[in-house]
Amino acid sequence: MRLSRFPLSTTKETPADAEIVSHQLMLRAGMIRKLAAGLYTWMPLGLRVLRRVETIVREEMNRSGAVELLMPAVQPGELWEETGRWDKFGPLLLRFQDRHERNFCYGPTHEEVITDLVRREIRSYKQLPLNLYQIQTKFRDETRPRFGVMRAREFLMKDAYSFHLDHDSLAETYQVMYDTYSRIFERTGLHFRPVQADSGAIGGSVSHEFHVLADSGEDAIVFSDGSEYAANVELAPTLPPTRPRPAPAADMTTVPTPGVHTMDELAASLDVPLERCLKTLLVRGTDTPVVALLLRGDHSLNELKAEKHPAVAAPLTMADEAAIRQAAGCGPGSVGPVGLDVPLIADHAATVMADFVCGANRDGEHLTGVNWARDAGEPQPADLRDAGAGDPSPDGKGTLGVARGIEVGHIFQLGTTYSEAMDATVLDENGASKPVAMGCYGIGVSRIVAAAIEQNHDANGMIWPEAIAPFTVAVVGINMNKSEKVAAAAERIYQALLDAGVDALLDDRDARPGVKFADMELIGIPHRIAIGERGLDQGTVEYRGRRDTDNQDVAVDDVVDHLL
Ligand code: ATP
Ligand code: MG
Ligand code: MG
Ligand code: MG
Repeated sequence: MRLSRFPLSTTKETPADAEIVSHQLMLRAGMIRKLAAGLYTWMPLGLRVLRRVETIVREEMNRSGAVELLMPAVQPGELWEETGRWDKFGPLLLRFQDRHERNFCYGPTHEEVITDLVRREIRSYKQLPLNLYQIQTKFRDETRPRFGVMRAREFLMKDAYSFHLDHDSLAETYQVMYDTYSRIFERTGLHFRPVQADSGAIGGSVSHEFHVLADSGEDAIVFSDGSEYAANVELAPTLPPTRPRPAPAADMTTVPTPGVHTMDELAASLDVPLERCLKTLLVRGTDTPVVALLLRGDHSLNELKAEKHPAVAAPLTMADEAAIRQAAGCGPGSVGPVGLDVPLIADHAATVMADFVCGANRDGEHLTGVNWARDAGEPQPADLRDAGAGDPSPDGKGTLGVARGIEVGHIFQLGTTYSEAMDATVLDENGASKPVAMGCYGIGVSRIVAAAIEQNHDANGMIWPEAIAPFTVAVVGINMNKSEKVAAAAERIYQALLDAGVDALLDDRDARPGVKFADMELIGIPHRIAIGERGLDQGTVEYRGRRDTDNQDVAVDDVVDHLL
């Protein structure tokens, strides 16, 4: 690609509304442009990265035996009525009507559509197991779309659905997908971790998430140093209380005893409206109850007019506190920090954080008696985000560490939830009709692009892992519009790279060398060759890897081999 013909549009200024580095850099590098909240155009530069990620995902899915298809993005409401999700999904589902006033939605996921397909197409166990996938645009009307393509409303997902006669076959394919996901994330060159996960609104039992580890991640994950145990902190019920619990204060009689309680029990005992309960932490231990909203995923701080980035964890202003208190319907007292997980909240709360009720992020279930207490005399850890670190692993092997993660993949064993609701059956060996067992497997293709930047950047810009870089090598001609010698050498090297199958970018713009170098660093091209008159006089060009601190002189005739 010749940069003189490529619409690259970079800026030095950090956009004011971009909170995290990937969003800032994607805007500064001109990879994406915002159309409206959560809606982005993938500019040519960004699209090259997106397509590379997509290719890796597709190649590995095909290699695993999965078969690609493409389903409509628009889905009839009746299918969602069959599974009960037309009501259950809530405002996340973008609904509309056609000219006949029939209900439709823009698909946030495709369990209903694929189950409908399979009940029509698959008759016999002989056609199973079957694993079908697509790479397609989804829409979720997220309450708080943010961080650019990281949490968009329209985004690109790879979603796969597998079908089986029995649970053993499902478990087998689930393992194949687990391994496939590990290969996919290894190939992208990212540092990731699979963890046990909550199966949430999708349903089912066994489930794992794949997280790209980065400090800005919205999820917190715990993992053991002595075993394979790793889990999303959302799975609060599996976490032990992290510190000994102090004797209950007198006013705690209204708090249910430790254990998992229903929403109703909690609502009866808490001074908070029921609809807020699922995401509410009630902290007792100080003179006044402290209420904090546990905000994850679909729950919006926007509603509460308190715009704070949880990863930055800035203290709330008085106005924020008042707004949250009012929204949560609680009385005076300090409001805990707004965070995405319990340890973050502990970061900002009153000195004593004891015996609180924790929204387990699962319908109807809460953990009470959770304890991240800091006694008055206890030395305060430097970073309470790591509260929970150092505690014994729930499997009894090793101690827990805490890290922040970006959920880039999620796999579920759904079982027969959907096939029973939608009557998707097959005939088994004996001619008996059985509901098919199902698995489903998602990857946030567009989110991976942002996650890769969160993990790989420096003060000058992005640093792409080679496998997903928009271009592999930048050939920068210094004053090439003034020097025929430079122009000829740059063209020759560029062509030789293309001939060798290297994805090269020729910076043939009429721009100052400093501008060119800054752009190549900002857009994170892994390798750079700078060609100038002075070097050519000595028969050399300058090579620099994106993570290098120095240039390296390489003979003009060797430079292509040097890169291969
Ligand atoms: P999150 O917890 O971040 O809201 P999710 O659990 O709702 O994600 P899944 O239903 O598991 O998402 O969807 C599969 C994958 O799609 C996720 O693992 C994630 O990588 C991606 N994804 C989900 N929501 C978004 C979004 N709003 N923007 C970009 N990618 C998303
Ligand atoms: Mg979500
Ligand atoms: Mg999730
Ligand atoms: Mg998920």
